[in-house]
Amino acid sequence: MKCLTIQTSQKWPRHLNKAHPNNLNRCCGRFRPNPETGFRSWGRNMFKSRLMMALIATTALMPTAGFAQSQAIPHEELGAIGTVAAVPADFYWPGANYDPAVPSPKSVLGYQIGEAITPHAQIIRYFEALAAYAPDQMKIFDYGRSWQGKRLIYAAIGSPEKIANLDAIQADAQKLADPRKLAAGEAEAIIARHPAVVWLAYSVHGDEIGPADSSLQLAYHLLAARGDPRMAEIKRNTLVIIVPIQNPDGRDRFISTNLNGTGMTPDGDPMSAERDQPWPGGRVNHMQFDLNRDWFALTQPETRGHTAAVLKYYPVVVVDSHEMGSDRSFFFPPESQPINPNVTSEQLALKNLLGQNNGRWFDQFGLPYFTRESYDLFYPGYGDGWPTAQGSIAMTFEQGSARGMLAKRSDGSKFAFRDTVKSQFVAVLSTIEVAARERGRFVRSFYDFRRTAIAEGKSEAVKSYILPTQTDQSNTDKLAALLSRQGIEVNRTTSNFTACGRTFAAGSFVVSAAQPAKRLIRNLLEPDTAMEANFVAEQQRRRRAGLGDQIYDVTGWSLPLLYNVEVVPCATDPAVTSQKASTAMIQPGQVINPDAKVAFVAASGSTATSRFMAKALQQGIALRTMAEAFTLEGKTYPAGSLVLARGENGADLNQKLASLVAETGAVLTGFDSSWVTNGPSLGSDKAIKLRNPRILLAWDSPTDRNSAGATRYVLERKFGVPVTPVRMRRLAGLPLSGYDVVILPDGEGSYGAALGEAGARNLRTFVQNGGVLISLGTATGWLADPDVDLIGLRREQATVTEAEAKGRLPEAKTKAGASGVDGVNFPDEATYKQAIVETSRDPTELDGAILRGETAKDHWLTAGIAPTLHMMVAGSDIYRPLTADVGDNVVRFAGPDQVKASGIVWDDIRKQLAFKPALAVQSRGRGYVVAFTIDPTYRGMADGLDSLVMNAIYFSAARARPVR
Ligand SMILES: [Zn+2]
Repeated sequence: MKCLTIQTSQKWPRHLNKAHPNNLNRCCGRFRPNPETGFRSWGRNMFKSRLMMALIATTALMPTAGFAQSQAIPHEELGAIGTVAAVPADFYWPGANYDPAVPSPKSVLGYQIGEAITPHAQIIRYFEALAAYAPDQMKIFDYGRSWQGKRLIYAAIGSPEKIANLDAIQADAQKLADPRKLAAGEAEAIIARHPAVVWLAYSVHGDEIGPADSSLQLAYHLLAARGDPRMAEIKRNTLVIIVPIQNPDGRDRFISTNLNGTGMTPDGDPMSAERDQPWPGGRVNHMQFDLNRDWFALTQPETRGHTAAVLKYYPVVVVDSHEMGSDRSFFFPPESQPINPNVTSEQLALKNLLGQNNGRWFDQFGLPYFTRESYDLFYPGYGDGWPTAQGSIAMTFEQGSARGMLAKRSDGSKFAFRDTVKSQFVAVLSTIEVAARERGRFVRSFYDFRRTAIAEGKSEAVKSYILPTQTDQSNTDKLAALLSRQGIEVNRTTSNFTACGRTFAAGSFVVSAAQPAKRLIRNLLEPDTAMEANFVAEQQRRRRAGLGDQIYDVTGWSLPLLYNVEVVPCATDPAVTSQKASTAMIQPGQVINPDAKVAFVAASGSTATSRFMAKALQQGIALRTMAEAFTLEGKTYPAGSLVLARGENGADLNQKLASLVAETGAVLTGFDSSWVTNGPSLGSDKAIKLRNPRILLAWDSPTDRNSAGATRYVLERKFGVPVTPVRMRRLAGLPLSGYDVVILPDGEGSYGAALGEAGARNLRTFVQNGGVLISLGTATGWLADPDVDLIGLRREQATVTEAEAKGRLPEAKTKAGASGVDGVNFPDEATYKQAIVETSRDPTELDGAILRGETAKDHWLTAGIAPTLHMMVAGSDIYRPLTADVGDNVVRFAGPDQVKASGIVWDDIRKQLAFKPALAVQSRGRGYVVAFTIDPTYRGMADGLDSLVMNAIYFSAARARPVR
């Protein structure tokens, strides 16, 4: 669920690819472009063709051949596209004097930075050219590969002494990061010698193009600039690490679209094809994730590799360079509220110092900027929030994007791509300048952050978090691994122990708060992270005044809730024998009694069992799900448990099972007899045969790209289940008999407009004939539309208060013969205000909070699912439950006093959501409609709901009776 419209100018989600309504009506100072052409200072003979530059850049053999003298091309001659003005060599730094021996961007790429948007391969090429020229001052490291296999790199740039001693610098950083390991006096010695490591990460959103190009100019400047007086101190005191492109798949997708849409010259019209990105747009990575939300969930290769690299160096300053809507100027910190309570006052003070220096340079260059608006510092999954929680001074920079080579603001003024590159360049150089000047303070601040964290962890009320052994051990193990990967010490106990009045089994995990990562631990393991009271009060006031809130992103993210794993906060830090937890996301499972003669059983309730189910069915293993609980050899297995009969399977079963449990983490127990003493027998018709379903996932607009991508990610990457993504425009007319399951992800546009009556009819027929239709989030709103009526749920309007109902006017009807409507008196202002309350409105939108749900005890759809679930809920969709004659509400929100688990949930919403459905199922003909009113695959991070999604697919498909 999402809001589809932005309610006020104050609320504007980070980096949305839209023009911001607050038009600042400014352009870039002394580099003010000509309003007619976008360019001012350069003659036509200096104009260049982007295509030619791109061709030269991609041939790689003769970088300067043929192009430098490019002439203006008469428009009636056939020529290349995208002619732009040449960028002068000192455009980025007036009077810059570059050492001609250092390979310039132009000598390698064939153009000056700012004359073209540089694709990923060329970024790598330029960095490699620099590193090859100055191997003693620059080294390149790979930290991973994108989904599409593109290299993810960082470059370390520093004095020869630093580059020769990167290992020693890393070792010092590790020591500062863990003051417990330092000998007396060692801290001071390290602080005296350690460089300020400045980490610069660029263009995490692929359509935020300027930052990555500015990283090329920065690397060149650091190695080649002569006569910049700041360079000596920067070389002496800093180690600069550049991650030039965090999201190569998204960037190259954007560049391809942009080039394809480009005509003779770049067109700044926001509606021009070069700037109007087709679904899914360039922002997201291949899997359509927003990587700038993933820093603690680590679902994507780009963030897994990046965070691991950051943890090697523990940089003292981090910049994550972004772009925003073209109407806005430039943002750098200090941030707006809310500020995460785990941020220290020293961190804020240093940010202020950095911001002030930025402001000084921007004033000098005549570049407009703003601070303390829009961009907060609350969610720890951002590229600034996560390093902040580790002790860095981490900042987001935001430049109004050209979104191409040329942009037109809504006031008609224009600016060029190079202008955006310049602002990023200036801001980042300013940041490095301060880090160099204040090296000692920044390094000490980092050390103090880590040191005080330990002390606070010892004295604060919660001194440890214990993860007991529990039903879904696979999710528990994964949570422990996820924390371990972030530099958090997690210990797996090797003996039973008692703490906080409770006995815990060996194998439980303990996370002590008395460690340097304490502030990240609080962020991730506490159920709730508080927003400042004055900020929350202001949001209340805004709601009452009918204004939108200023909350930027989700308000709850607690990992134990998202994983549905029990974590016990404990007032002591138990001393118990233990070993370091593994960083493997899946622990190998096992087959107990593998030579069993009759059958194997896997207990439901574990994500590993769901994983096993999917993989085993793909390998052709015959598998049944038990509709009810049963007892075998004294052990009771819950409903939904899986049974494999040896007689139904081939001779190679043992071999297959051995590799399957290793891969999936499932635990199977073999039995030599099928004699059940309680519940249905293994041979009963309540042992329902499972099928390997063929899954269609609706793709393309109007689905929400993040939801479509996350759903594909969850199925393909967490469970190994292939899906067929089918573009929406095919869905109304496509014969669906080739599929068992159709999934409609959460939408960001109208399903009704996209599918129409023909689409509804096609899906109705599909379900009638035995298909399973699964809707997520707002897709359910379309199924519940009375004209579509694929499910009997109905979407609710906001509740009306008694005062509102009383104050409403009679309907303004004109009686026959009358010339106007009935007159009314307003005796006072209060009556007037009640009278103008809208007669119908949606419930107030949730920005993203975690709500508690309860599962139906005896329903096959929730068989094996925990009785209490935690669900990320965003948007404003609340549904009237199904009546018993129509279908079943198998997961419902908890009562009004229990429903809120984490985050901001306004009182009226809390009351209205109570007991409403989160998951409903309706049987239709030979098939089922399974409707989630929430998005259970949200950001791919809600592992606690994964088994429910798998049940919805597999258990429904097993019960449907398709026409064959
Ligand atoms: Zn961004």
